[in-house]
Amino acid sequence: MKKLVKRLIIVGSLAAVLTAVTLLARNEGIAEFMAGTVSRGILTAMGYATSWIPFSLSQIIIIALIIIGLALAAAFFVQLKKRGRKTWLKLLNLTAAVIAYIIFYNLSVGFAYHRKPLDLGISLNEPAEEYVAEATEYFIRDFAALADSLPRDTAGNVVSPYTFKELNQKLKEEYERIDNDYLGDFTPTAKPVGLSAVMAELSIAGFFLGPLGEANVTKLALDYERPFYIAHELAHAKGVMREFEADLTASYLLLSSDDPYLRYSGYMINYGYILSPMCALQNDYYTELCDLIPDSVYTEMHNAYLLVAKYDMLDELGRKINDLYLKLNGQSKGVGSYDDPGSSVEIPSDPEDPTSPPIIKYYYSVTELTIFSIYRTRTA
Ligand SMILES: [Zn+2]
Repeated sequence: MKKLVKRLIIVGSLAAVLTAVTLLARNEGIAEFMAGTVSRGILTAMGYATSWIPFSLSQIIIIALIIIGLALAAAFFVQLKKRGRKTWLKLLNLTAAVIAYIIFYNLSVGFAYHRKPLDLGISLNEPAEEYVAEATEYFIRDFAALADSLPRDTAGNVVSPYTFKELNQKLKEEYERIDNDYLGDFTPTAKPVGLSAVMAELSIAGFFLGPLGEANVTKLALDYERPFYIAHELAHAKGVMREFEADLTASYLLLSSDDPYLRYSGYMINYGYILSPMCALQNDYYTELCDLIPDSVYTEMHNAYLLVAKYDMLDELGRKINDLYLKLNGQSKGVGSYDDPGSSVEIPSDPEDPTSPPIIKYYYSVTELTIFSIYRTRTA
């Protein structure tokens, strides 16, 4: 009986600590402090250690956890039939281990989901309408020129000038350009996952296993997708956990790069964000700009779609797991939290007169404002 009481006290104490950590994380100031100190310390130490391991440790740990979980569940049901005291002791031990892991997980990445909005150290001013057309044209012309000049394989896909390892090193160097305290200094080594086919079936292109500080990326991607996938997982490793902000950090890194291949990857992922303000503002020049995008881009996008379509067995399961994970971490939109669209409304041209002819008012998203900021820097 004594042992049972002792276990109950341990589980109760751990549950109290977990509740306190979860509640404290909901305070932006505390979350920011913890993300920049304790979480950063854990991710740096763990990321430094796992970067020395030449393969993805995360995939092995996930498989081991699934096997251990199934074995424990089977053992538990066998014990349950005996209805003995040992059953309860084992159940309490398991509960204590799971709660302890969740506490450690929250300390390593949980706080970062609730920290202050992403700060890349750039100014985010709303652009005037003429400026929108000017910036969009600049980006689309650069995109088209890169699409025409980069080497392609026989299927029409751009070929990376870097191996996975070289690309990782290149992105590490690119991250050094973002000189801002919001991001941790340490950048781990991203790793290709051996079980990429399983990831592809689950529609997962990459994942960052928090406590290990390990950025994992699929091997089954077109070359144009890989820089974005790696940069996204590295953003998580540097303390940017909210999905649209990790996307934004990766996009900023690629679109502001001097490297043609990296910039092309940024355009392929972000051309929708680049074009949407002009489309929403119904600017006459919009269609002309869309026509500048060469067919090779659409062929490549179609090839990317065909690759995804090849692996669709566990699509829904993968989506549900990710959605549940994000919601458990306070992201109410779940898998919808990757998107950061702007929005538009029609308002009277004369605020005093509701019957005056309507004009379109566009509300820029942070991603779109960041893209305009890149234009300002690149053309300064
Ligand atoms: Zn992510």
